[in-house]
Amino acid sequence: MIDLNDPVVRGYLIQLLGEEGITMIENMPEGEVTDEEIAEATGVLLNIVRRNLFIMNENKLAVCRRERDSSSGWLTYLWQLDMDDIDTQLTKEKKKLVKNLQARLDFEEDNVFYVCPEGCIRILFNNAADCHFLCPVCGEDLTFQENTEMVDTLKERLTALQES
Ligand SMILES: [Zn+2]
Repeated sequence: MIDLNDPVVRGYLIQLLGEEGITMIENMPEGEVTDEEIAEATGVLLNIVRRNLFIMNENKLAVCRRERDSSSGWLTYLWQLDMDDIDTQLTKEKKKLVKNLQARLDFEEDNVFYVCPEGCIRILFNNAADCHFLCPVCGEDLTFQENTEMVDTLKERLTALQES
């Protein structure tokens, strides 16, 4: 079983399903169950249970089996958590995050930024020059923005992520 207290696992699941997703997973009955049984056992609303099951299935965290009742002909959907693959999912998420952070870092390092002192905009040097260094929104003089602090923050986040 996965450790729901692991901050990385928890963060991933909250991002994917929200806090109620955690409640649902923590209180989910063992074995194969229907969405209605899950709603009843976890106290999470049925439509949210269904939405979460769908998302979990998409992300390979839950499996679904259809069973046809031989007498009525009704189809029943039986659900079961399947978290064995979560490490693969987390690795994928991490890679995506690292890529995005790296792209943002490169952008910050490769460019020079100007900002409006009133907080209207933050634009690239070329665009600021096109506007004669006047804010296109309020007309204030644009000022050069030192972004080393932001670069450092991005670098720290990137290192922390790569070491986790
Ligand atoms: Zn402005």
